[in-house]
Amino acid sequence: MSETTTPDVAAVQTELEAALGDRATVMTEVEDRYVYSIEKWFDAYREPGGDEADLPEVVVRVRSVEDTETAREVLTAGGFRPVLRGSLERPAIDASDHVGLIDETDVWHLPADLDAQARSITQPDLRVEHTAAPDVFIQDRCATHTVCKGYCPINQTVYGDVETFSAKGRAIVSRELTTGADGPISHSKRVSDILFSCATCGNCFRPCTGELTDMYEGLIEAKRAIIEERDGVVPGTIQRMLEDTFKYGNPYGFPAEQRADWTEEAGVEVRVVEPDESVDVLLFVGCDPSYDVRNRRIAVSLARIFDALDLDWGILGNAERCSGNHQRAVGEEGLFEYLVEENAATLEAVDYGTLVTADPHSFHAFRNDYAEYGVDLDPMHYTQFLVERLDPDDLPDVPGEPKVVTYHDSCYLGTHNGVTAEPRALLEWLPGYEFVDIESQALCCGGGGGRMWFEDPSVDQRPAQPVVELAMDAGADVLAVACPFCATNFEEARLFNHLEDELVVKDISELVAEALETIAG
Ligand code: SF4
Repeated sequence: MSETTTPDVAAVQTELEAALGDRATVMTEVEDRYVYSIEKWFDAYREPGGDEADLPEVVVRVRSVEDTETAREVLTAGGFRPVLRGSLERPAIDASDHVGLIDETDVWHLPADLDAQARSITQPDLRVEHTAAPDVFIQDRCATHTVCKGYCPINQTVYGDVETFSAKGRAIVSRELTTGADGPISHSKRVSDILFSCATCGNCFRPCTGELTDMYEGLIEAKRAIIEERDGVVPGTIQRMLEDTFKYGNPYGFPAEQRADWTEEAGVEVRVVEPDESVDVLLFVGCDPSYDVRNRRIAVSLARIFDALDLDWGILGNAERCSGNHQRAVGEEGLFEYLVEENAATLEAVDYGTLVTADPHSFHAFRNDYAEYGVDLDPMHYTQFLVERLDPDDLPDVPGEPKVVTYHDSCYLGTHNGVTAEPRALLEWLPGYEFVDIESQALCCGGGGGRMWFEDPSVDQRPAQPVVELAMDAGADVLAVACPFCATNFEEARLFNHLEDELVVKDISELVAEALETIAG
């Protein structure tokens, strides 16, 4: 090739991939070219919109100075103008230039290079303010700041650290959709994947020097834009989840009248509290512990614990509806409002003392989101409740070598709501166990934000893998969780790694129930 050859994107992509192998990532899709060019030299793209013709035609992400030189040579030979991203001086780009952007910016890698600080909670209470206007989450500084991009555990574990799927990339794409800009980013299957693959874990809010905790709302607002259009790019599995929720009150499509069937497995009497009745403790079971074969053990365990504590307690039975946390997070606000109205009416009809949730997603919705519709609830996650009601002095020692138990914080319990001490206290109290903390808060099982229903067959989906590895490195016999979605995803990761005989995944409720049964026996 010579400098006068008409630039051929496909040919230069092939040349670059042959020269750099898996040391580089070569990108030609419009979303990548757009996200990677949101930098100071591409002034047209500092604001939403712009012209696709101004974008670089190819982006090469390299990881060494040597490879930068190779990329430069290949691009030049292919008739492209190599531009190095991150240069202090703005290069003089002529309108006739065919730009090949070389990105050699360093990023942090999770989990391999992750130190304890980066994966532990540094801001324990990151409660999201839902009042901020969605367009404030992305500001000019997002165009030049990059600190958040290395903090996305989904990007790091699933998307190979490509900036388009980082927090920064998602924010840039969200800005385009929510401002209605007539730029190169529009509704497409890939844009849908970029947004719906976010687990709303909240990890990217931690390092943000702009304190953009309302980025959560910005991401949801962008998904709303896609959901409202319903123009064929909503992931099919999420579409089905939404339809099932509307029809059956749960995202799985199980009959509403089977919601309380789990009580038949409880082995203790479970009271269904009817309208106008009173109860001291009302357990909101949630969809997964009600229906999922594995996670019914959570509901059963809580029933046995409450029974052992001799509480006046009950459930709403088949009148309970999905809390709507996932549905809201994927952008279906209308369905969420419907669920709020249904659950609010049911809760209002009952005279209860304490509302306890079995899962962090219902807890988060009740604690944070229902108030927007004038429904003020004061829920407790069951770990908070048990810390108040259990007396550790009543738990006798178990003879023999203790097993090692560790814990992973659910994003919607730890990061979003700051509930980190109570689960650990319960694990510290457990007879027969030694608690070792892997501090994996900044990692994510991948199930939040409706991501449990998101499928992208083009990538290897194993965001839960690093947590299982940390647990194994810590010598854990048991990986404890306090969320049914964490339980499901870590079970899968455990089986994928053939760790059936080495690592057990248990919800804390299961461990407490076992401890109490030990006492009873
Ligand atoms: S909320 Fe979590 S998954 Fe979504 S962009 Fe931020 S770090 Fe990534």
